[in-house]
Amino acid sequence: MTAENEASALAGTLADSVAGPVLLPGDSGFADELASFQLGLRHRPDLVVGARRASDVQTVLRLAGEYGVPVTVHNTGHGMRFSADGGVVLTLRRLNGVLVDPDARTARVGGGATWSEVMAAAAPHGLVPPSGSLGCVGAVGYTLGGGISLLARSDGWASDLVRSFTVTTEDGEEREVGPGDAEWFAHLRGSGPMRGEVVTEMTIGLLPEGRLQGGGLTFDIGATGAEGDPAVLHAFREWTAGLPGELTSTLRVMSFPDLDYLPPRLRGRRIARVAVALRGTREDAARLVAPLRKVAPVIEDTLAPMPFGEYGRVHAEPDSPGPFIGENLLVGSLDPAALENLARLTGPTMVIMNIRHLGGALLGPAAVPDTVRGRDAHYLVAAVAPVDPLVSLSHPAAAHDQASPGWALEPFGTARLGVSPGFTVGPRGRG
Ligand SMILES: Cc1cc2nc3c(=O)[nH]c(=O)nc-3n(C[C@H](O)[C@H](O)[C@H](O)COP(=O)(O)OP(=O)(O)OC[C@H]3O[C@@H](n4cnc5c(N)ncnc54)[C@H](O)[C@@H]3O)c2cc1C
Repeated sequence: MTAENEASALAGTLADSVAGPVLLPGDSGFADELASFQLGLRHRPDLVVGARRASDVQTVLRLAGEYGVPVTVHNTGHGMRFSADGGVVLTLRRLNGVLVDPDARTARVGGGATWSEVMAAAAPHGLVPPSGSLGCVGAVGYTLGGGISLLARSDGWASDLVRSFTVTTEDGEEREVGPGDAEWFAHLRGSGPMRGEVVTEMTIGLLPEGRLQGGGLTFDIGATGAEGDPAVLHAFREWTAGLPGELTSTLRVMSFPDLDYLPPRLRGRRIARVAVALRGTREDAARLVAPLRKVAPVIEDTLAPMPFGEYGRVHAEPDSPGPFIGENLLVGSLDPAALENLARLTGPTMVIMNIRHLGGALLGPAAVPDTVRGRDAHYLVAAVAPVDPLVSLSHPAAAHDQASPGWALEPFGTARLGVSPGFTVGPRGRG
């Protein structure tokens, strides 16, 4: 039997046994089912199945195994690294139930729920989940890589808050994985994206909402194409070295082209923006950020008390899909020479650099063994670059070679400790 015939026979069997949609290429809704935040890659399966309940996942994995058809798991697409060619794509977004236990301060989170969905369920109880910079990221996909939250330096790794996972194994068996299952529990907390097994539910601890101060300080460090002033970058290094754990910050450096549609203050300028999130009072925020405010004129300052529901404004990242590639380094320190280089960065491709301040509660061994990378790191340096979707969709390795922002990370390599799997996204190179 050809692969297509196998898929079509499997589709017939699945249509009778799962609650979610079972779609073949050409069926209405096929492309929408594969919608993704990553537009530089596109799955081209022989069959797509949308799981509506955990038993759908078990049925798909068991039957696909019997038919010898490979299965690729897809949720929001933020962490996509390859395009599946053929086989079954199993989508998880309908597994988005969230059940909060306010007394235990936990949430049972469906395998396809986003952080926004968890946030919405937790908020009425005065609780918040360990979400990252953007609410549309999948809660489980994020936590599998450790999960660096908005308040990571005070709250620790998201994966440290996990109580248990409900996992369907490759052969379609359901298994509850908690601290008693040490090897699996460690694997699921930090190793990053999985192929083969599917988490249909995770139970994770929630945190008291408390008082959030959040926003960003934006500095103009020079003209795009000219050498930028590294003063703000050096100040970030010195400032972060002395900060208490309650403040978590990220430095973003990017150069804007001289294009009409951009706000005048950004057109043709190199911009450094420090995103700040803090548990505490307005006065705490003002005191802790004062040294940074003095370094250079702040062209935009949005740091203020913020309802948790608006936390996306802290990093102010675009939440619309695009074609991109992301690479990163975990480092022990920021080399001043690398910051000098970053201020005048010009290279073969456009790149956005994000330096996340780690340390604080992220440092040191886990109470329950895990596989998180970055427990000894003080910064995560992440580089994101756009890819040409026309190249990427047909030749992902060529797109990687053309657009990989790895060159922008090299100067930081002197203090390299490793790589975070969660921030390695987009088309990969060969091998
Ligand atoms: C714009 C942007 C912002 C980000 N911000 C942060 C941040 O602040 N902090 C942080 O730590 N990370 C962040 N990340 C990284 C993000 O956590 C990872 O890319 C994560 O893998 C995304 O998971 P997803 O389910 O949304 O994406 P998907 O691409 O749908 O999933 C990625 C992979 O995870 C696996 N997966 C997902 N769900 C399941 C499941 N239920 N069972 C089994 N496997 C599953 C699959 O292998 C899948 O291929 C960000 C990424 C982007 C693109």
